Amino acid sequence: MASEHRTFTNPEQSGYVGFANLPNQVHRKSVKKGFEFTLMVVGESGLGKSTLVNSLFLTDLYPERCIPGAAEKIDKTVSIDASTVEIEERGVKLRLTVVDTPGYGDAINNIDCFQPIIRYIDDQFERYLQDESGLNRRNIVDNRVHCCFYFISPTGHGLKPLDVEFMKALHHKVNVVPVIAKSDTLTRKEVMKLKAKIVSEIEKHGISTYRIPDCDSDEDEDFKEQNRQLKDGMPFAVCGSSQLIEVRGRKVRGRLYPWGVVEVENPDHCDFIKLRSMLITHMQDLQEVTQDVHYENFRSEKLARSGGSKPFKPKLKREDSHDQMSEKDKILLEKEAELKRMQEMLAKMQQQMKQQGGEVTSHKI
Ligand code: GDP
Repeated sequence: MASEHRTFTNPEQSGYVGFANLPNQVHRKSVKKGFEFTLMVVGESGLGKSTLVNSLFLTDLYPERCIPGAAEKIDKTVSIDASTVEIEERGVKLRLTVVDTPGYGDAINNIDCFQPIIRYIDDQFERYLQDESGLNRRNIVDNRVHCCFYFISPTGHGLKPLDVEFMKALHHKVNVVPVIAKSDTLTRKEVMKLKAKIVSEIEKHGISTYRIPDCDSDEDEDFKEQNRQLKDGMPFAVCGSSQLIEVRGRKVRGRLYPWGVVEVENPDHCDFIKLRSMLITHMQDLQEVTQDVHYENFRSEKLARSGGSKPFKPKLKREDSHDQMSEKDKILLEKEAELKRMQEMLAKMQQQMKQQGGEVTSHKI
């Protein structure tokens, strides 16, 4: 298993990813320091992972990539290839690490192909845990995997057994975001059908994928609408391209076919923009869920193993403060309603006694 870190700066300065808006989400200190984010991409080879990542971050993350032939693939196990790129937009720095998993699903028997991936995720948690308990706590580099794009083939009839097993094995360790690859190979109707099938299978198998958080009630209507569309659009059906093509006088990122151009950033053609908005808008939330749910799972599991305490049961999502609030509110509302009923009863009794000529006085107890 090879693990390699390379660092690039963004060569394609003309494009715009959109993370310059990140300071709206976090404290100024983080703006000065820059953001650290790790994205993992998993899926069978040839599904367009590298192309999509390059399209997302307008950079070439794999300049020296060499693709093994079928004979080499037979003996090869899954390797882990981490590339770090520093992108700067309007003075905001993002240190992005993309972890690729070449060889995933390539073997004849894929039973253990996600073990190296689990090991990598756990190793990053372990490193963070040690750094956190060390002396240099202020300068910890956070290499934990914050999000995992899981690529689903557009040609199947839903999830394959390997997809189900992978997501079940990983959903308590990382924020899994399933995406339908190469969606330009499907008609709009086929995309809708495949999305519905995947959603129902995810539910049937009890898989917990990343859940976009609800908006606060005081958020503006446009943002609420955007959030609703993101939630309804999952799993996103995406396509990528490394080519710029001229369409009606505009240079667009697209795929040129004899019958026309598929524009990657056109929301009528695919969900690429939605995927990117989700990643940028909820980058901080993805980091928080990693810290509060997945890292906590790792620590609890470690404690349970070393201390022989209660058997470990992983959390699949964070305790939702919205749910807790509404539960509290519900109890308060019930109490208020009960009080009102009692006051009304008392008023009625007073009225009746008055009519009968008696006098009632109420006492504070
Ligand atoms: P990876 O092995 O998953 O990283 O896949 P690559 O990004 O190397 O892409 C494999 C092949 O699929 C290449 O020939 C790409 O040009 C092509 N490809 C990449 N993205 C798309 C896409 O969105 N749609 C279609 N139709 N082909 C794509």
